[in-house]
Amino acid sequence: MTFNYQAAFQKALGEVHAEGRYRVFADLERDCGRFPQAIIHKDDGSTQEITVWCSNDYLGMGQHEAVLSAMKNAIDHVGAGAGGTRNIAGTTHYHVLLEKELADLHEKEAALLFTSGYIANEATLTTLAKLLPGVVILSDELNHASMIQGIRGGRGPKMIWRHNDVEHLEELLAQLPEDQPKIVAFESVYSMDGDIAPIEEICRVAKKYGAFTYLDEVHGVGLYGLRGGGVAQRDGVLDMVDCVEGTLGKAIGVMGGYIAGSAELVDAIRSFASSFIFTTALSPVLVAGALQSVRILKEAQSMRDEHQARAAHLKMALEEKGLPVMPSESHIVPVFVGDPVHCKAISDRLLNEFGVYVQPINYPTVPKGTERLRFSPTPLHTEEHVEHLVDALDALWAECKLARGELPTDRIAAQ
Ligand SMILES: *Cc1c(COP(=O)(O)O)cnc(C)c1O
Repeated sequence: MTFNYQAAFQKALGEVHAEGRYRVFADLERDCGRFPQAIIHKDDGSTQEITVWCSNDYLGMGQHEAVLSAMKNAIDHVGAGAGGTRNIAGTTHYHVLLEKELADLHEKEAALLFTSGYIANEATLTTLAKLLPGVVILSDELNHASMIQGIRGGRGPKMIWRHNDVEHLEELLAQLPEDQPKIVAFESVYSMDGDIAPIEEICRVAKKYGAFTYLDEVHGVGLYGLRGGGVAQRDGVLDMVDCVEGTLGKAIGVMGGYIAGSAELVDAIRSFASSFIFTTALSPVLVAGALQSVRILKEAQSMRDEHQARAAHLKMALEEKGLPVMPSESHIVPVFVGDPVHCKAISDRLLNEFGVYVQPINYPTVPKGTERLRFSPTPLHTEEHVEHLVDALDALWAECKLARGELPTDRIAAQ
């Protein structure tokens, strides 16, 4: 008998179903100009108007008029696609301008675009490991899947330090020979808990031991710092970060990823990273939109202030009802559920009964037992939106007899 491929797929899916973490994608139509409102298409063919509460388009830039018109102009001017890799006819003037703009945003000499933030992390870390003989990568234990994949791809040794634990990082660094190359890889805002890394302390320890610092600012770009250069800019420590990585797909509202750093670093990655070299360049239409968005965000401190105010307001309103908001220092508002089946059920009922769309966050995105709902309020969510959401959660928490007040910190700490 030959191998039964379909049965193997079914078996794997069966396991995901049994654990209550099978993922169902919401079939959405965003309603341009009315963010965060959208239409959802349901299985039975019907549609419903909903409010999106879990978008990473944190400032609604994906529907900003100036961004849209830059994209429309680009498509009329140069057409749809790049037409090749960056090496073979795919470098448009928009790419060159955006790389300059991103280097300036992060106070660095140069920047390099990738087709996504995931690819930027994967390509850069893999390539760094190949360029630096004998390098050890010291990785925060909660780093994003794309960094983990990049570190694996480099096939070199790695050390995992406890999340945001600078003392543990130093303990590990101190064990390594002085002349060995070392990369300290971490994020600024951890998007599932909403906590923020002590960037200055981490960089100081890294520099003490001669390590290269690699910072994923995906959830900080556009949102923190006087010009939107991220948390490292806010903290005034960009000069201690050797490589900043970011996305064009979240606060910038379009699609794509990048790194920024020294001219030599960027030139080396450009010259050696396989997933940069052998892929069609980002569409100039996307690049033109991102370019306009970054230019606006550099001058958008009032939008950043409103964004933080909205997040603080939502946290307070949830706390007033005793709902288990996880301690977040950022714009991300996670609410603890602690069980994948409940988490999915609450998310379904929020959608069907209250028109509130928030995805359940289950394993493997977060550790088992720490399942949660993750809200991302934007400046475009109104007081009424917040009130409606909090009332809906309050009603469901009462009906499902879910825990309020004190969080089970042992389980959160066990992450
Ligand atoms: C989303 C995300 C990425 C990947 O960025 P994309 O542009 O969506 O591919 C990288 N790092 C972190 C921490 C992220 O949350």
